[in-house]
Amino acid sequence: MSVVDRQEWDVVVVGAGGAGLRAAIAARERGARTAVICKSLFGKAHTVMAEGGIAAAMANVNEHDNWQVHFRDTLRGGKFLNQWRMAELHAREAPDRVWELETWGALFDRTKDGRISQRNFGGHEYPRLAHVGDRTGLELIRTLQQKIVALQQEDHRETGDYESRLKVFQECTVTRVLKDASKVGGVFAYERETGRFFVLQAPSVVIATGGIGKSFKVTSNSWEYTGDGHALALLAGAPLLNMEFVQFHPTGMVWPPSVKGILVTESVRGDGGVLRNSEGKRFMFDYVPDVFKEKYAESEEEGDRWYEDPDHNRRPPELLPRDEVARAINAEVKAGRGSPHGGVFLDVSTRMPAEVIRRRLPSMYHQFKELADVDITAEAMEVGPTCHYVMGGIAVDSETAAAREVPGLFAAGEVAGGMHGSNRLGGNSLSDLLVFGRRAGLHAAEYAAGLGDGRPVVDDVQLDTAAAEALRPFSAEAEAQNPSAGPPENPYTLHQELQQAMNDLVGIIRREGEMEQALEKLADLRVRARRAGVEGHRQFNPGWHLALDLRNMLLVSECVARAALERTESRGGHTREDHPTMDRGWRRINLLCRLTDPTGALAATDPVHGQIDLVRETTDPIRPDLLSLFEKEELVKYLAEEELYE
Ligand code: FAD
Repeated sequence: MSVVDRQEWDVVVVGAGGAGLRAAIAARERGARTAVICKSLFGKAHTVMAEGGIAAAMANVNEHDNWQVHFRDTLRGGKFLNQWRMAELHAREAPDRVWELETWGALFDRTKDGRISQRNFGGHEYPRLAHVGDRTGLELIRTLQQKIVALQQEDHRETGDYESRLKVFQECTVTRVLKDASKVGGVFAYERETGRFFVLQAPSVVIATGGIGKSFKVTSNSWEYTGDGHALALLAGAPLLNMEFVQFHPTGMVWPPSVKGILVTESVRGDGGVLRNSEGKRFMFDYVPDVFKEKYAESEEEGDRWYEDPDHNRRPPELLPRDEVARAINAEVKAGRGSPHGGVFLDVSTRMPAEVIRRRLPSMYHQFKELADVDITAEAMEVGPTCHYVMGGIAVDSETAAAREVPGLFAAGEVAGGMHGSNRLGGNSLSDLLVFGRRAGLHAAEYAAGLGDGRPVVDDVQLDTAAAEALRPFSAEAEAQNPSAGPPENPYTLHQELQQAMNDLVGIIRREGEMEQALEKLADLRVRARRAGVEGHRQFNPGWHLALDLRNMLLVSECVARAALERTESRGGHTREDHPTMDRGWRRINLLCRLTDPTGALAATDPVHGQIDLVRETTDPIRPDLLSLFEKEELVKYLAEEELYE
């Protein structure tokens, strides 16, 4: 077999969202011949959907802001489980990454005196999100695409070929990272339209594939979010970090059913929107946890004054970090004080003039008008929690974004773990992907250049195995003829059952017995997924694509369920009903998932057996000068006894 097309590159970037494009630009500017490969159309990545803005301490709207305050907010939001060096680099470098976008042509909204405007968001002490209305992600991607085209034009002038140093392969899905012994050797991929297989050989691969939301039934995430990059890294031998932390955004649409889960941006609350229950009460005042009590207003009057005078008032509790707000909404609905369709009310109509709403929140205005026939300038929206973001991800080195244990593998953006600890603050993803996308691209290029002539070679056996794995769904019917096997399975049915199980059993509030049930269900789905069959041929066949994505979603879901069962405390995006409080002892513990059975031998004989090994690892002590940014009384709430002593 193995007559697949092979191409040679220095760096292959998997994913063309914000992280992937920023990485590709950095790698190309560092002199590496760089290929970008994405399963969506170029320019249609999930990043396009980002609404609120990019968090960066530029101090344009409040002069007291600086990187130290941003770092502090990020650690508080992540409940001190963040990989602190990443949080530091992120806070220090984010302003430069925003400035750079402007020099590349991004058109941000302005303050009255002409600076880049910044808006309030949950958990950020000062207005910090650089934005373009509520369509920031679109402008970010447009700008990065434009920069890529500019680089290609430069290459054309020099070499006569636009794609000589930077080429985009769109609508192509990577199914395997290939190796030369322990090192990365490239990727195996198929064209979605034709089903044709091909290989991009390269010593450096940057994974920038985004999140995992499509494993859950109610999600704000787009079709691409099937955890591919997480699974690719695991299968290549790299560990995943803290996969139990999944963010449920407090405000997704709850009605009509066809749009359930679609995001209602946090900017609605940042710009003055308030949450009310069916009794008309602003209930968030009842849900301010002790660790945040001093920072948030105690009355509606104080909260409202903060919008005009933030230096002399505390912020309203609607702007608590997302995990707190999501849990509060969940509790109100459970207590019978929800809205008619099982959410709560989010109101801007009584808080701002109609024309201001239409100007500041144009996408939200159209989204509700068109999808739910609700005019948000005249009535409240109904909202409830939706699976939004995964904090867990590929374990990476803070400086270089290199994945652990697999030389040549790098990761950036939502697929990488560590930066956000147990809970991400709004706006910190777009800044994360710019800061670490750039770092990943630079270091991937340097790693490739450092290898000189000793570049990896991928053997044919790996290609045959990868091709056979990808073709398996077409032979499910034949395999099912074997009397000991069950009937062929429909990938869509399996996907629905997986989403339902993850939503119900490993969702926003978790219990031991339910997570054990989830693991049993995943084992059952794993066995059935081996018989996931499709008809027809390889030309654009969405059933086949889904059958291949199922492998990734099942792997990643097992990581989430295993880690969530292990962590017997509640922290950030992980809430245990049976362990409802944060335990300082757990602050020092990371959970790492690795593949149990890298060769697949065990799975072939015993598919029910779990695929994931989980180990605990002690976190690095936080550097003293960073700790000194916090008051001692605050640290006592988070740090373990021995850390305080140290
Ligand atoms: P993406 O932008 O998702 O890109 C992933 C890329 O990987 C895509 O090109 C995809 O096609 C490709 N890919 C995936 N699998 C494969 C494969 N197997 N082979 C090849 N290619 C593959 N964050 C903020 O900071 N501020 C906001 O205001 C904000 N608003 C948001 C609004 C919404 C509605 C949502 C859903 C999220 C929002 N977020 C926001 C979060 C943020 O948008 C994402 O976390 C971020 O865009 C992720 O970027 P990324 O580059 O990591 O991945």
